[in-house]
Amino acid sequence: MEIEARLEDVRQRIARAAEKSGRRPGDVALVAVSKTFDAEAIQPVIDAGQRVFGENRVQEAQGKWPALKEKTPGIELHLIGPLQSNKAADAVALFDVVQSVDREKIARVLAEECEKQARSLRFYVQVNTGLEPQKAGIDPRETLAFVTLCRDELKLPIEGLMCIPPAEENPGPHFALLAKLARECGLKKLSMGMSGDFETAVEFGATSVRVGSAIFGAR
Ligand SMILES: *Cc1c(COP(=O)(O)O)cnc(C)c1O
Repeated sequence: MEIEARLEDVRQRIARAAEKSGRRPGDVALVAVSKTFDAEAIQPVIDAGQRVFGENRVQEAQGKWPALKEKTPGIELHLIGPLQSNKAADAVALFDVVQSVDREKIARVLAEECEKQARSLRFYVQVNTGLEPQKAGIDPRETLAFVTLCRDELKLPIEGLMCIPPAEENPGPHFALLAKLARECGLKKLSMGMSGDFETAVEFGATSVRVGSAIFGAR
């Protein structure tokens, strides 16, 4: 299948999953995850109408997105990977949404950089729903306190929660937990679901799914 056909197939599968659970297809945003793919591979997906993209590394994104963004207005770029404080200034300059806020230090630095650069980004708090030691994200039990700190004290506009369930587990309970935590925090957005499980995520209430390999091919 060509890349345009794979994109269309993913869009249709999202729409069907939304309808199946009584939701509108337009309520689920597709974040096309272009990590490891170069500008030449990404351009056809932009040409096919896709505008929201995800990258997991600041430096890699800096190498391709400024030119792609300049060529096509209206691109929305999401950082979906872990962020180090020393890259926060670059991240704020390039990205529109950071989905991986997971500790106080990075939240503070991001808030400072937004102010310094007069940029208004949107943010998600990443939750480590499987409590995996090697994985980024806040402990589910600390989510409400952390979201409250970000919103009230740091004035960081948190709009939702994000998770990456453990690879070997049934993702449903993790998606359900994220949805419950979001309700407790009064947050409406849920970023969950990847190539292998985005339809399940939509059924559990995902408002955006992050899909890479099902669009771009294997990495
Ligand atoms: C790579 C990545 C994705 C996309 O994964 P696929 O399985 O290729 O769809 C989604 N979310 C995050 C955080 C990623 O790093």
